[in-house]
Amino acid sequence: MNTEPSDYIDFGLQEEHVAFRDQFRRFVLDRLVPIAERAEAEKRFPLEVYDELRNNGYLAVNYPEEVGGGGGDLLMGCIFYEELSRASAGISAGVFAHQHLAVGPILKFGTDAQKREYADPGLRGERIGAFGLTEPDAGSDIRGIKTVARRDGDDWVINGSKLYITNGCIADFMLVAARTDDGRANNSLTLFLVDTKDAGVKATELNKVGNHSSSTALVSFDDVRVGSDAIMGGMGGGLAMLKATLTEGRILVANRGLGIAQEAVECILSYSGQRRAFDQTIGKFQGVAFQISSIATRVDAARLMIYRAAHLKMAGKDCIREASMGKLLASEIAVEAAGKSLLLHGGAGYMEEMKVARLYRDAPEAWIGEGTNEIQLLVISKTLGLL
Ligand SMILES: Cc1cc2nc3c(=O)[nH]c(=O)nc-3n(C[C@H](O)[C@H](O)[C@H](O)COP(=O)(O)OP(=O)(O)OC[C@H]3O[C@@H](n4cnc5c(N)ncnc54)[C@H](O)[C@@H]3O)c2cc1C
Repeated sequence: MNTEPSDYIDFGLQEEHVAFRDQFRRFVLDRLVPIAERAEAEKRFPLEVYDELRNNGYLAVNYPEEVGGGGGDLLMGCIFYEELSRASAGISAGVFAHQHLAVGPILKFGTDAQKREYADPGLRGERIGAFGLTEPDAGSDIRGIKTVARRDGDDWVINGSKLYITNGCIADFMLVAARTDDGRANNSLTLFLVDTKDAGVKATELNKVGNHSSSTALVSFDDVRVGSDAIMGGMGGGLAMLKATLTEGRILVANRGLGIAQEAVECILSYSGQRRAFDQTIGKFQGVAFQISSIATRVDAARLMIYRAAHLKMAGKDCIREASMGKLLASEIAVEAAGKSLLLHGGAGYMEEMKVARLYRDAPEAWIGEGTNEIQLLVISKTLGLL
């Protein structure tokens, strides 16, 4: 059943966006859903996804054509992540971390040599990237990171570890935030581009509640030696680049929660139209219909908020508050919709083979990743002058 407004154009999508959404949705259903189901069962990120995306022109959809992207705008990127996440939150986590947390900053802040070495093959899905910020003792508190890089002659030697790193075990390269100065000053952190084959880099896969088709790892750095050409964006520029990357990515990442929420609605719409109790389909009970309608309303609200933030961003206007609001609402509704949808499936919803069970396991990561919802509230509170 189509739960979307029949004509989206009034809500900021042009015909090209609607055409892209319909085409990409069909591609995802035909080509990616079968891969996602196998990958979930095998608990691995399916690298063949990059071949599928590349061969069908869906890699880097919202990067400029000059750098090898698809030339689409931010709204195309929003649609891409919503549709991909409907098929698999795990795969979308891996693709997002690669395209937007690893390749994106290199395109923006990297040297020409770094772009040639990492971003160009990254945009083709030939070399996979990871983003290393979070550590065992520091996540939300970026200034608290402990991984250290010490100068040794012309080289730098990195020691420390990064936790919960998406693509950690499959990445060819990683952006590593390291301390190059003591204290919490703005210039105490520097970003290094590390080849994961370098001596001293070790990745250990972690067991997660959900997102089973993504790799998430503890990555340790034991006397990892890199040249000064591994520094990205200048000495001491790490904090500013990390913040810019997370803020920029917020609008896109919000669509990951949105995709889970939309899929949870679709699951219960379909099930409630088939499952019978007391001589009628359960969707005909007002108690069920109202719950589904209430969730569908808030999923739509989240989408509109995300699109508003995207429009502001595309118009070059400040959208920090709107982006955080969109991410907050979309991930809250992802968790709520997945839970409600599961419950409305009755016992069937609790069975592992049902898609809604997977959505229920995957949804909370949308709340946590790229800045928890408490951090989004912190950002919103600051823009409201409260804190
Ligand atoms: C599946 C998965 C994939 C991930 N992928 C990556 C990745 O690729 N790269 C990467 O660097 N990180 C990644 N992360 C890490 C993620 O970004 C962090 O887990 C997140 O930022 C929170 O950090 P933390 O876990 O250290 O929690 P903490 O910062 O310790 O927070 C714990 C709790 O306290 C709350 N809290 C903290 N500070 C405040 C405050 N000032 N006000 C109010 N509440 C606060 C938090 O919201 C949270 O609820 C991933 C995490 C998961 C689960």
